[in-house]
Amino acid sequence: MKVGVLALQGDVREHIRSLGDCGVIATPVRRPSEIEEVDALVIPGGESTTIAKLARSFGVFDLIARRISEGMPTYGSCAGMILIANTILDAMEGQETFGGINAVVRRNAFGRQVDSFEADLHFDGITEAPLRAIFIRAPWVESVGNEVEVLASVDGHPVAIRQGNLLATSFHPELTGDNRVHRYFVDTVCKEAMKIGSR
Ligand code: GLN
Repeated sequence: MKVGVLALQGDVREHIRSLGDCGVIATPVRRPSEIEEVDALVIPGGESTTIAKLARSFGVFDLIARRISEGMPTYGSCAGMILIANTILDAMEGQETFGGINAVVRRNAFGRQVDSFEADLHFDGITEAPLRAIFIRAPWVESVGNEVEVLASVDGHPVAIRQGNLLATSFHPELTGDNRVHRYFVDTVCKEAMKIGSR
């Protein structure tokens, strides 16, 4: 399975390392041909407005949106969560998303950079010890459609959600050295998608 990390802006290297720790050789992708070739995509944390604009200027915006809608397993962390949500609140004027998850996501919901924090989360599907999560100008999920599973919440606000092949977290597991979310993406989300695809 070829996993790409969208390498337009944000913490690309950290995701590649986390995936590597899970036994997956992930590659940075930004050109149309590179994005066509991958079986799964990770969209990193960074700045969602910048990533969306760069995706337009690299000519890959519509391609990514199409591949997501066709079922490519995709994991978005923080800015990546915003980018794969169908609806965003507190967006910049004209801000676009690739869409995919039937959720309303509020940008910068936990506050500004100075309000960044860490928390121990219970994450459904990761059964052992709680997950240490780092939130940096993080979004939260305001509401979800029936087809969306909430996997983790902070103060009643969903911060990890899944809709079939799409996984999104408000926080940054790539910064903690705890790779259980990446492992969940690779071993559960991607594997289930491949099984369905090969039926
Ligand atoms: N607030 C950022 C945005 O809107 C996301 C921050 C992050 O990815 N750490 O894109």
